[in-house]
Amino acid sequence: ALPPQGSLRVQCYTPAIEEKQRHRLHIQQAIRGATERGEMSLAFQPKLSLADHKILGAEALLRWQHPEFGLISPGEFIPLAEASGDILAIGDWVLNEAMRYINLWRAQGLLNDDFHIAVNVAARQLTRKDFAQQLLARLEEQQIPQRFFALEVTESGLMSDMDHARQQLAQLAQMNIAVAIDDFGTGQSSLAYIKTLPFSTLKIDRAFVMDLETSAIDRQLAQTIAQLAHSVGCDVVAEGIENSAQAAYLSSIGCEAAQGYFYARPLPAEAFVTWCSEWQPLLSTSPREAINGS
Ligand code: C2E
Ligand code: MG
Ligand code: MG
Ligand code: MG
Repeated sequence: ALPPQGSLRVQCYTPAIEEKQRHRLHIQQAIRGATERGEMSLAFQPKLSLADHKILGAEALLRWQHPEFGLISPGEFIPLAEASGDILAIGDWVLNEAMRYINLWRAQGLLNDDFHIAVNVAARQLTRKDFAQQLLARLEEQQIPQRFFALEVTESGLMSDMDHARQQLAQLAQMNIAVAIDDFGTGQSSLAYIKTLPFSTLKIDRAFVMDLETSAIDRQLAQTIAQLAHSVGCDVVAEGIENSAQAAYLSSIGCEAAQGYFYARPLPAEAFVTWCSEWQPLLSTSPREAINGS
C-alpha cells in the first residue's frame, strides 16, 4: 500500500495526541481527592544489607488504583501531581501513612531498632520553608524516634531549587533525619553539591546496575560512584538488583545495601510483613538458600 499523504498522516496523528492529552488531563483531575477516596496505598520494598542480607528497612512506594484506569504508575502520576501542586497534599498523606505503619509495626514488635522506613519526597515538598520543622513536629507528635524514618530526594529535584533545598537539608541533618540522594547519576548532577549537602546515603540508580554483567564501563561507573559516596562519608544503596551476579559485584565494590526484584518487589503492607517474617528465619539457617530460593 502507498504511504499515507502528508495531510492524511496529520489527520491520523492528531486524534492520538488529543486522546493522550485528554487522558493526562483526566488523570490530573482524578489525582485530587484520590487519597480521600481510598485509591492510594503504600507498597514497601525491603532494603537489605549486602554483607549479611539482613533487613535494614524498606522504601515506601506510592500506589494508585484508579477505579477506571486500574493501577497507574507513580512514574506517570507523580510528575503530573508535581506540576499541579497536588503533590503537597499527596506527599503529606504519604508521610502520615508511613508513620502510621511505623507505629503499627513497632506496636506489633515487628521493627527492631535499626529498621527504618524511607519515604520519597518531591522537590516541591522539600522547598517548603517549614518542611523540616513540620516533619520533626509530626514525628514527635507520633512519638517516633528519628532513626525509624528516612527521606529520599531525587537529584534532579534538588537541582531545581538548590538554595531552598539546601536550607531544609541542613535542618534535617541537624534534626538527625537521614536523607538519601535518589537516582544518583541520572540527573544533571553537580559534584559540588555532594560535598556541600549533608546526605547520609547515596542511591545508585538502576541504570548503572542493569548491565553490570555485560558492561565493563558500567562496572567502572558503579565502582566510581561508590568510591565517591564513601569519600564524602555516605553509605551506598544500589537500586534495581535483579540477579545474584549484580549483587555479588556491588558487594565487592563496597555497596552497603541493596534493593531489587531479586530480593523482593514492592509489596502491599501485609505481604511485606509476611515476607520479613519468612526472610529472617531463613537467614539464620542458611543465607545462601534464602537468596537462591527467593
Ligand atoms: P524510586 O524512588 O527511584 O523507586 C525505585 C523504583 O524502581 C520503584 O518504581 C520500584 O518499584 C522500582 N524497582 C525496584 N526494584 C526494581 C528492580 O529490580 N527492577 C525494576 N525494573 N524496577 C525496580 P515505582 O514504584 O514505579 O516508583 C517510581 C518512582 O516514582 C520512584 O522512583 C519515585 O521517584 C516516585 N515515587 C514513588 N512513590 C513516591 C512518593 O510517595 N512520593 C514521591 N514524591 N515520589 C514517589
Ligand atoms: Mg526512592
Ligand atoms: Mg531511585
Ligand atoms: Mg527512580
